[in-house]
Amino acid sequence: MRTIVVGTGAGGATAARELAAKGFEVIILESGKEFKPFTRLLSWAEPLRRTGLLGNEKNITRLFPPMDTTRSANDLVLVRGITTGGSTVLSCGNIVRADHGLKEIGLDLTPEFEEIERNIGITEFPRERWQPVTQNMFEAAEKLGLEPKATPKAVNSVKCVSCGLCELGCTTGARWDSRRFLDDAINAGAALHTSSPVEKVIIENGQSKGVIVRSENKLNPIKADVVVLAAGGIGTAQILKASRLPAKDNLWVDIVLTLGGVLKGANQLKELPMAWYTKHEDYILSPYLDILSHWFHKPWRNVSIDDRVGLMVKLADIEEGAVYVDGKVQKDIKKEDHLRLDEAISVARNVLESAGVSGPYINGVHNGGHLGGTVPLTKADVSSMKPSWLPEGLWVADLSLAPRSQGLPTILLTAALALKVARKIIENEMI
Ligand SMILES: Cc1cc2nc3c(=O)[nH]c(=O)nc-3n(C[C@H](O)[C@H](O)[C@H](O)COP(=O)(O)OP(=O)(O)OC[C@H]3O[C@@H](n4cnc5c(N)ncnc54)[C@H](O)[C@@H]3O)c2cc1C
Repeated sequence: MRTIVVGTGAGGATAARELAAKGFEVIILESGKEFKPFTRLLSWAEPLRRTGLLGNEKNITRLFPPMDTTRSANDLVLVRGITTGGSTVLSCGNIVRADHGLKEIGLDLTPEFEEIERNIGITEFPRERWQPVTQNMFEAAEKLGLEPKATPKAVNSVKCVSCGLCELGCTTGARWDSRRFLDDAINAGAALHTSSPVEKVIIENGQSKGVIVRSENKLNPIKADVVVLAAGGIGTAQILKASRLPAKDNLWVDIVLTLGGVLKGANQLKELPMAWYTKHEDYILSPYLDILSHWFHKPWRNVSIDDRVGLMVKLADIEEGAVYVDGKVQKDIKKEDHLRLDEAISVARNVLESAGVSGPYINGVHNGGHLGGTVPLTKADVSSMKPSWLPEGLWVADLSLAPRSQGLPTILLTAALALKVARKIIENEMI
């Protein structure tokens, strides 16, 4: 059974691994290049940052091509990984079960969560390696009754050098990313083609027959019996719309807003980010020195990296946003999102104040990197794990399938969805 998997992130790598293990002939098409972490020294950036010469967040892609940024509104930057491993290579290694909206559609991913947690190997990072400010904020959150917990991590603490720059790629291989599943797929016989962006799906008589891929500036058809789209919430929607299929304008992104405070010599960057978190109804708080805000956000400019302290809010946003055929995205922060962010930021401020972190307290850049909801599963789709409007032979196996925003880390959810989809494909195609 010839199968094309598009994308190598949390969804694509998981699906490819499962299909290849079951004897499918798997061709993996990845639009980015092979991932390489950012290894240049950062000290040169400080003087440029202070004078504003670093410009805006678009420059991050010039310095570090795997990190793609898009402004989907004046005040919202979307981030994703375009490379082998997708967005997982930019992650902080948080692995948490996120299942908002699944019960409502009758989808229980507990067995998949358990299996993937075992495959990845989850640990708790040693608390003695938290910076004192992180420990103080944890204790302050405890005193405020917020019940903070150490974040479950897919990070080998022996290999981790606490550089604090997980988002620029792990230089020591301490942090798990989906390239490990990709390697398993390749070892089981899958063929990986990088620099191969898929433009659209070939559909004949209501059935998918393969894809059109752009390579070396030419458009080439590749035929297959089954096509699995796992290009992420933006990429998958773009391919579907280019194929004249109706991806939904329900994009959600889990808006991140980091409240910055100041503490001399806090050195928050010298630890694994997001060491602990507090869970609220629709957001989490977690210690995080937001590099995007530190480098590119004017109001954060006059505090040095050593003295900056950040506490992140990650909010489950309203599921409304559109991806267009040219890859442009329209997604803004709704009034209700702003209200809930304000509420969460005031709790974050209490934690900073109680932990002895002083002001001025300044919000960072609104950004989002959990891109989902553009092919949302409904109750009627759960038995097949495939929205009924997708043509025969065409499947989706990424975060696009999650109908609701999470306000929580989403790698595990994506991988669990993809595993379940891959098993449905196997069940279907083996008949
Ligand atoms: C900075 C950052 C930090 C994060 N940290 C965490 C964390 O600590 N824990 C956590 O659980 N979650 C984290 N996330 C979220 C998590 O990484 C994503 O939700 C998850 O990877 C989504 O999986 P996906 O397969 O849907 O998309 P992705 O992982 O983004 O993969 C999409 C893949 O498709 C490829 N692609 C796109 N378009 C095309 C095309 N046209 N043709 C071919 N290939 C294409 C991309 O290059 C990529 O390989 C983070 C996200 C970001 C941006």
